[in-house]
Amino acid sequence: MTFESLGLKSELLEAVQAKGYTQPSPIQEKAIPEILKGRDILASAQTGTGKTAGFTLPLLHKLSEQKVDGKRAIRALILTPTRELASQVYDSVRDYGANLNLKSTVIFGGVNQNPQVRTLKQGVDILVATPGRLLDLHNQKHIKLNKVEVLVLDEADRMLDMGFLRDIERIMKLMPKQRQNLMFSATFSKEIKKLAGGILNNAAQVEAAPENTTAERVDQLAYRVDKAEKTALLIKIIFDAEMEQVLIFTRTKYGANRLCQKLDKRGIKASAIHGNKSQNQRTAALKDFKAGKIKALVATDIAARGLDIPLLPHVINYELPNVPEDYVHRIGRTGRAGAAGLAISLVGADELGYLKDIEKLLKTQIPSKIEEGFEPQDEPTPKAKNSKQKPNRNKKRKPDPNSKKQRRKQVLGQKK
Ligand code: AMP
Repeated sequence: MTFESLGLKSELLEAVQAKGYTQPSPIQEKAIPEILKGRDILASAQTGTGKTAGFTLPLLHKLSEQKVDGKRAIRALILTPTRELASQVYDSVRDYGANLNLKSTVIFGGVNQNPQVRTLKQGVDILVATPGRLLDLHNQKHIKLNKVEVLVLDEADRMLDMGFLRDIERIMKLMPKQRQNLMFSATFSKEIKKLAGGILNNAAQVEAAPENTTAERVDQLAYRVDKAEKTALLIKIIFDAEMEQVLIFTRTKYGANRLCQKLDKRGIKASAIHGNKSQNQRTAALKDFKAGKIKALVATDIAARGLDIPLLPHVINYELPNVPEDYVHRIGRTGRAGAAGLAISLVGADELGYLKDIEKLLKTQIPSKIEEGFEPQDEPTPKAKNSKQKPNRNKKRKPDPNSKKQRRKQVLGQKK
């Protein structure tokens, strides 16, 4: 199939060509015709499937077809959970719409609102926003949503995870009832289905790919390792596989910072991206990573959601997420656009339950491995039982930091 056959106007086809896309991705093939017909859609799609163009292209097509008299009004609202995703979606709207007479802007919290207000005053057709700042500026009467014709909820599952349900409900009340709704979500919990039921009308269901694609697209590997040995093993893996760039997930912001420091010390340039970092710091880290100035980007789940890092070959879970769906999101950062990816997880004894939950969700068993020299002591393996000797560690551990002591204590605690 070609983009031409989807019925998109020439200005959009030119923009798509400029991006170098030769053919629509599966989600684009399915979603674009439905959206052009005016239908609501409920799409199951992760980042990396081309979902942004999947809704942006038909949206731009439709809006540019309409004749508008008088001042520009917000006719399309795209809601995203995070600032990063909002910026990335906005970049797509701007790039794909470069040849059209449509204005767009993006608003999110954590930065001065004045420039955002100034742009809004000039009139925009398309607004990309995070829920909090949108409501803020609406309350201050800088935004009117009474002309919205198309609503996009991007990464709806993450919006609920982040506690935006109330905000979404409030925003719904500010828009005309008669409108087209496009909802995208990587996972479909009961809550998501309920939200969809309240918003969508006779929606076309669009799936990017069968559910188990993630497992097929991405090679997965789980290393059983003691908590206290994770950093040493991580460094070994990065060096052994000669990884050019790697995205590493931790469960906590504190853990992300600490790991960054340790990697830096070992000559692996690393930057953390999490909720405590300012917007500028997050953008700078992502930019440096994309430019290849940073080897390891260490992220927490919320901060990483929606990051657009094309063709990332490796993702490492330094810790497994306690929500199995987050694992799906994390490893969705690799193996995109048909290229093979590798997702490695470092699994401590206390995380075996999480691993089981993940395998249940994926309906597959993740191959498990024990690295020589890193045999876990926190749960005796047959090998460890035979020999009382400590495994021969490749990396000599320095004494100190307190944190390590703490980790050891935890591990010892589990032995009992
Ligand atoms: P998304 O899932 O929207 O975050 O897109 C993931 C990546 O795929 C982005 O870097 C897009 O620029 C790229 N992309 C989107 N559509 C296509 C396409 N039809 N062909 C190749 N790459 C694409």
